[in-house]
Amino acid sequence: MVLAQLGGSISRAIQQMSNATIIDEKALNDCLNEITRALLQSDVQFKLVRDMQTNIKKIVNLDDLAAGHNKRRIIQQAIFNELCKILDPGKSSFTPKKGKTSVVMFVGLQGSGKTTTCTKYAYYYQKKGWKPALVCADTFRAGAFDQLKQNATKAKIPFYGSYMESDPVKIAEEGVERFKKENCDLIIVDTSGRHKQEAALFEEMRQVSEAAKPDLIIFVMDSSIGQAAFDQAQAFKQSVAVGAVIITKMDGHAKGGGALSAVAATKSPVIFIGTGEHMDEFEVFDVKPFVSRLLGMGDWSGFMDKIQEVVPMDQQPELLQKLSEGNFTLRIMYEQFQNLLKMGPIGQVFSMLPGFSAELMPKGHEKESQAKIKRYMTMMDSMTNEELDSSNPKLMNESRMMRIARGAGRPIRDVMEMLEEYKRLAKVWSKMKGLKIPKKGEMSSLSRNMNA
Ligand code: GDP
Repeated sequence: MVLAQLGGSISRAIQQMSNATIIDEKALNDCLNEITRALLQSDVQFKLVRDMQTNIKKIVNLDDLAAGHNKRRIIQQAIFNELCKILDPGKSSFTPKKGKTSVVMFVGLQGSGKTTTCTKYAYYYQKKGWKPALVCADTFRAGAFDQLKQNATKAKIPFYGSYMESDPVKIAEEGVERFKKENCDLIIVDTSGRHKQEAALFEEMRQVSEAAKPDLIIFVMDSSIGQAAFDQAQAFKQSVAVGAVIITKMDGHAKGGGALSAVAATKSPVIFIGTGEHMDEFEVFDVKPFVSRLLGMGDWSGFMDKIQEVVPMDQQPELLQKLSEGNFTLRIMYEQFQNLLKMGPIGQVFSMLPGFSAELMPKGHEKESQAKIKRYMTMMDSMTNEELDSSNPKLMNESRMMRIARGAGRPIRDVMEMLEEYKRLAKVWSKMKGLKIPKKGEMSSLSRNMNA
């Protein structure tokens, strides 16, 4: 995801500023200009970026910075708050209630991933024990009904549509009626894709909305839409009562900044993101963990929840003990690499940490990354126990590195690269030092105790 690059650029700008000997207005402006450039390059709307810059200048007190307080943290916190503010419209969206019929209508541009997302959304709730149903009110695109039918059949979700009827308003009305009678508690209406220039299609969307009487209208947006995001999202919002946003294709090479613009335009929260073509490549969206990850600050709360969810109970104490000690040895790195390669439960947990998976094993480059990790592991196989169990890299003088390189049949620069990687990961790991080991049932309070 290119958003990770945005996070990297912002972190670098902050780092550069905090390295400066004098933090004056110029240094702060340089830093903010750098961040502005990164945001614009990521397709965040110009006005949003400009407002953000003005707000940060108002919030950040230069005297505090000059007095030697933790400059990096002050600026990073201000940026974190501003990004959260853009992504959080300050109100939550309607959430369907199990056992009580809700109608949810999907709207968006053609090709945004609406039909795919309708099924993902239905499947998400079905797994939680709901009784969803799909209505295909897309009569514009040839094959839309077949696509929905195919997806719905695969997920065993009831569906309604017609090859003969060309009026989407009628289909929406009939479909919703039918599934209400069948006591479905989540009726999802898919509509045709449309573009803001297509006035007639916008009028039709309004009519479908009047007929289906949705409790929630979700605007689906492709993350690669770029600077057009704001205007398109606003056009939808002006025609129908958009109450939530889902951003699709976050797995691709999209810049993703349009997500921020869509929230600003619709004043509605992002509730899910699509991260692939498959049914379960769909994630609940939470603003703070998302921005934390974006800025490389780490998603601590999500991390702890994930430990509880995926690490087998009997392995949890050992892992937490190691984390709490904060001592990152090459042996621990070796074990984590094994887990990452297996993508076993602990591998999944570590994939949420900044530094571990995003940089070490970026999506789309899994093969190269796996080869790299295996190379590192081969070199670690040539190390002594003393080297593996030491958390002091100074131990590794040149003659030791030469020996390891020879043993693994690799050039010495590979050993040096591996040790650099170790140092980087040790830094991430050290942030977890002091982690309190939970007693049974205390896991959710953990994130508050962390030294993050
Ligand atoms: P619609 O025209 O808005 O209904 O869009 P579709 O649901 O037909 O999706 C258009 C294309 O985007 C299809 O090839 C989908 O498989 C693909 N797609 C949808 N969501 C995602 C996603 O989150 N990630 C990726 N990589 N592809 C997606």
